[in-house]
Amino acid sequence: MVNLSPTELERYRRQIMLPGFGKEAQQRLKSATVLVTGVGGLGGTAALYLAVAGVGRLILVRGGELRLDDMNRQILMSDDWVGKPRVFKAKERLEDINPDVEVEAIFDYVTPDNVDFLVQSADVALDCAHNFTERDLLNAACVRWRKPMVEAAMDGMEAYLTTIVPGVTPCLSCLFPEKPEWDRRGFGVLGAVSGTLACLTALEAIKLITGCSQPLLSQLLTMDLHQMVFAKRRSYRDRNCPVCGTHSHHYPTSLQLSRALVNSQQSTVNHQQVYFMTLTLTEAAEFRLRTFLLASSKDENATQRGIRVGVEDGGCNGYQYSIKVINAPQADDIVMQQGKLSIYIDAQSAPLLEGVVVDFVDGLLESGFKFSNPNATDTCGCGKSFQAGNCSPAGVPCS
Ligand SMILES: [Zn+2]
Repeated sequence: MVNLSPTELERYRRQIMLPGFGKEAQQRLKSATVLVTGVGGLGGTAALYLAVAGVGRLILVRGGELRLDDMNRQILMSDDWVGKPRVFKAKERLEDINPDVEVEAIFDYVTPDNVDFLVQSADVALDCAHNFTERDLLNAACVRWRKPMVEAAMDGMEAYLTTIVPGVTPCLSCLFPEKPEWDRRGFGVLGAVSGTLACLTALEAIKLITGCSQPLLSQLLTMDLHQMVFAKRRSYRDRNCPVCGTHSHHYPTSLQLSRALVNSQQSTVNHQQVYFMTLTLTEAAEFRLRTFLLASSKDENATQRGIRVGVEDGGCNGYQYSIKVINAPQADDIVMQQGKLSIYIDAQSAPLLEGVVVDFVDGLLESGFKFSNPNATDTCGCGKSFQAGNCSPAGVPCS
């Protein structure tokens, strides 16, 4: 993880002190590269908030020159810049505001020729482009390269926002199979409206990068700023989506099989023999665990024995089946970026389990692994069940 300089620690002190944020979140921001397509009232303002938050590298993509009628909302611009390429002014302003941020300005639109390179260069993309042609290109490339994308768009006083994690959430094409007939050049807009959406867009990216708080996954936030009505709607993935659907050419088989590398081993943690399985996720994925019990254990309590997954600091409480998942953001809905996930199973539970299968929620990968060693007999001597602090330091509960 990158180090933070004394200046950076001071500059970001007020956000580092946020509960759940801390230095680690700041380091993640510093390590991140965010692609922003469009640097107008929406993309430019979102880029501003990413720069002041300390995102290490920004790639801004926007063709075209600044016009006088952009000046009611494009707060990175200045009056003397009218007629010049806005993307260079945006870079200059952002670097003035935060010299620790590296900004790359690309004076171009998103095109079929450049989109793959752009998406591969970034960890997260913000879709703030001014038309659906560019939006569709970016969406498809993000699906192809499994990069998360924050999708933000507006029309007059209305706006919507969602975060797309390929393979996990609906993509833009699932949400809008037919594109709205928006007049991208001509619609009326107030800077405060594009700015409102831009701030929320930046916040989504910060959540994705840091893992702090919940981004809008499979949820579409709609905003009617006429009436100040904000609503969240559940959005659904279209299995037959031409971009992200199961049969889409964007999901080659080789990618599916590389999503997780699974290892299982046997070890001893705090006197207790445990099995632990480590999944090294090579791509973002949402998954659930499914367990199979041995026939002999299908007694009246069997239904109580479902494997539960939990967060690292959840302690032993509630994990009936002695499962410990490390580095998972939340219990029932695990969405991980690249990372390592360790699952511990204590020796008492292990003999009862015939196997554990990892189900990826999107159904694109049938991955299973079984562990088999019912001979382990060591048990923890503490006698406490599911009480945090009384079990192992690693959090493996006694059963
Ligand atoms: Zn889709």
